Amino acid sequence: MKMQFWGVRGYVPTPGAEYLRYGGNTCCTALYGAGGELVILDTGTGFCQLGDTLMTREFGRGCGEMTLLITHTYWDHILGLPFPGIVHIPGNRLHLHGPDSTRGSLEMVYNGMLSPVYSPVYGLAHIGATHSFQPISTEPFMVGGMRVSALPLSQRNHSPIWAYRVEEGQRSLVYITDVRYTDDQIWKQALQFAAGANTLVHSAPYTRAEQVQDYGHSRVEDAIELAQEAAVERLMIFHHAQARTDDQLDALVSGYRRQLGEDESPLIFDAAREGDMVDV
Ligand SMILES: [Zn+2]
Repeated sequence: MKMQFWGVRGYVPTPGAEYLRYGGNTCCTALYGAGGELVILDTGTGFCQLGDTLMTREFGRGCGEMTLLITHTYWDHILGLPFPGIVHIPGNRLHLHGPDSTRGSLEMVYNGMLSPVYSPVYGLAHIGATHSFQPISTEPFMVGGMRVSALPLSQRNHSPIWAYRVEEGQRSLVYITDVRYTDDQIWKQALQFAAGANTLVHSAPYTRAEQVQDYGHSRVEDAIELAQEAAVERLMIFHHAQARTDDQLDALVSGYRRQLGEDESPLIFDAAREGDMVDV
């Protein structure tokens, strides 16, 4: 299984020369299975460029199929969904998995994004590709040869946030975002879910030293501690704060790597960059 980052920024898209190396699109990560499976984790603005590249494949001919795993419906995780040409081509099939909020289902949220208030599409009924919405549960399911598990990790106001674990053969990837470990229960659940994963992709927009308004996000140290306790091989942080420049991210990565080296930790640590392709 290979993984490619298409959007690694949190909150809002971040254009600008200081952000080019890590990238300014919001959350979107693609998983490519050995059998040709395509699984997308979140559909922030990074989904638009991913969609453009897929136009040269079967999606451009209206015979593409993908599975979308949505963690929650805050803008930075769904904003790209209606924009790529591939979602407007009849014949393409999108299977969406994700939590409903207390104010409406995932399908209602998506339909709302396409309402005449926001878009000329006039709703899901008028979009070309077939969208199917699958109820989310903790029951694992298969996408070809990939096994997907989901876990509700936190409830932020009206929007539940789920984490995903995808396994293929002996390899495993865990994707956790927008979680603040406010109690032991959440920590233990995350620990169990991430246990022994080859790669953990974890949001970490801030460090503990930074005094920021907290809306329920992890700090880099939280992600590192979770990865170490869960015996994860490689941690890749993402959902970078929008003001964090390339140079600042470089410095952050080298600082934590130095610390891990001094602690003789075997953890491989990196910050996700748009376009990076990783062997899970
Ligand atoms: Zn977010």
